[in-house]
Amino acid sequence: MSAECRCPCQQTRYTVTGPALLRAVCHCTLCQQFNRADYADIVIFRERDVQMPPEGQVAYETLRPPPAVQRGRCAACGKPAVERFAAPGLPRLVIVPVANVAEPQALPPVALHMFYNRRRADVAEAEGLPTYSGYWPSQLGFMRHLLPRLLRR
Ligand SMILES: [Zn+2]
Ligand SMILES: [Zn+2]
Repeated sequence: MSAECRCPCQQTRYTVTGPALLRAVCHCTLCQQFNRADYADIVIFRERDVQMPPEGQVAYETLRPPPAVQRGRCAACGKPAVERFAAPGLPRLVIVPVANVAEPQALPPVALHMFYNRRRADVAEAEGLPTYSGYWPSQLGFMRHLLPRLLRR
């Protein structure tokens, strides 16, 4: 797929040119903080499939290592723009907030909910989907969905 992405103020723009690996909803407190929302609806791409925004356009911060997630805010509006994820043994990944995808209808459906024990509200769409609660179950559940998709190509 090819998709245009932009932050809420449109100053930060980037393009994904490869397939979405996985879409997930994360209810963890860091995602709640970062997005100032009840949860984060995110979609994962390989970094090689993303034409990232220019350096300086995005300010990256690490809220808590590990895992090595660099959360990037638009330097203009301060809203979530894009996140980078690097873990040993994995190719470099990019996390895109679904709200930043210009045409989200092209994305795959949500595959799982993670850190569901931290949810601020029950999410109706979570019914019938795998939900993972707690740190390790959430990390492992996420990897269990991600790895087959990574190995497929
Ligand atoms: Zn912006
Ligand atoms: Zn999270």
